[in-house]
Parts: sequence; structure tokens; C-alpha cells
Amino acid sequence: MSAVLEIAGLQKTYRSRKGVRKALDGFDMVVEAGQVHGFLGPNGSGKTTTLRTLLGLIRPNGGRMSILGREVPQALPEVAGSVGAIVESPQFFGNFSAQDTLSLLADAGGVPRTRVFEVLELVGLRDRSKDRVKTYSLGMKQRLAVASALLKNPKLLILDEPANGLDPGGIREMRGLMAGLAESGMTVLLSSHILGEIQLICDSVTIIAAGRRVAAGSVAEVLATHASTSLRVRL
Ligand code: ATP
Repeated sequence: MSAVLEIAGLQKTYRSRKGVRKALDGFDMVVEAGQVHGFLGPNGSGKTTTLRTLLGLIRPNGGRMSILGREVPQALPEVAGSVGAIVESPQFFGNFSAQDTLSLLADAGGVPRTRVFEVLELVGLRDRSKDRVKTYSLGMKQRLAVASALLKNPKLLILDEPANGLDPGGIREMRGLMAGLAESGMTVLLSSHILGEIQLICDSVTIIAAGRRVAAGSVAEVLATHASTSLRVRL
């Protein structure tokens, strides 16, 4: 196995009029190829800061990061085509269909229209692709968001809380989708503050608390050795 993503000693301090807040305090993470890797931590532990830093949206104060063996943020322009990411809840036009939405995004990104049909199939929205997005369930909207990140056929897919608000059925669908992507050779990094989601969806996990890695490994291993973790279990 080889690492698709490596983070070492990442530091981020936010400074505002309210004072100084250390969001990342020497954070480390390694994500191996072909894994659905969970990024688990309570609210405010630094997950979004890590993901936004990886994508070059926030400048870190220290540490090193690489994607597909290339140092980021310096090499982001070269690896950008290999990374699909959803780090903010995307806003879709309710009156557009999934097909319209993805076609617009494909055109804007120089992606062939044939890819739209492939991703609709991948996320299980082909049957409803002509219906307006406002008629979709939350799970369908989340899968449409994943579809938009898949248009470029990325090697690494980064998703911030894609299962947020889903019921157990929606989470099972998300698990099927992620497993299928990993089987096709994609690597997925998926954040959540809910242990049960990670247990259901992921192969391996990194746990973050107060900006530091507190555990990492296969989900089974980490749960066996950190059974007393105080993370919230919802399922
Ligand atoms: P959640 O699950 O609630 O999204 P998180 O694990 O993603 O949490 P972050 O959003 O990365 O955590 O926040 C880490 C810490 O940094 C928190 O204490 C948060 O209040 C703080 N923080 C995040 N963004 C900013 C900002 N722009 N300015 C100041 N502090 C911030």
C-alpha cells in the first residue's frame, strides 16, 4: 500500500479580535490508497481546518502535507485534477434537475457530458436524474454533491461530513457508494463527528481531538484499543 495523503506536524492558529485559538497542534495523518478513511473528531476538534488547509483554502502556520506524493499547497495546481472535494454544503438550484446541475458543472470544468451519466449511475441517481433537485431527499442531495466531486474522476475524494443528518438508510446508501468507489481504486477521506457513521462507512480511521491525532488504524483496531473514547455514538 502507498500513501495518497500524508500530513505531518500540521499547525494552525486563528487570530481574531477575540484572541488566539490553536485549531491544529502538530496534527499527523496518513491515508493509504484504496481506503475509505474516516476522519473522526468532536465538534471543534480541527477537521474542517485540516481539510481546508489541504485544499489550499487556509494557510497553515507549520507542518508538511502531501497529496499523491506531491507537497501541497505548492503542488496543488498539479494535483488539483486528481482531487475531488466537498468541504462546504453545496447549494443547488432546486428547480434544476441533477442532470442539468451536473451538465453545467461539467461544461464549466471542461468535463465531457458523457461523464455526467457515469457519475449519475455511480451515485444511484440515474432514475431520478431528470427530476428537480427540490424533490430530492437529503440523502439524494448528498449523493448529488458527491456526484459533482466525482466529475473529474479524482484519485482522492475529500468529503466533509457527507453523512450529516442522514437516517440509517441514507448512511447505508452512502456506505455502498463509498465502498464501490474504493473498489474502483479511488481513495476517500470522509470526516464525521459520529463514531457510528465511521464504523459503518469506513475501513480505517484517524481520530483527532483538540487539533492532535489521538488514534489511527483500521476501524476495528482503533475501536478495540480506544473503546473508552468519549466520542458521541449515535447509531
Ligand atoms: P465541526 O465538526 O464543528 O465542523 P471541526 O472539527 O471541523 O468542527 P474546525 O471547524 O476545524 O473543527 O475548528 C477547530 C477550532 O478552530 C474550533 O475551536 C473553532 O472554533 C476554531 N475556528 C475555526 N475556524 C475559525 C476562524 N475562522 N476563526 C477563528 N477560529 C476558528
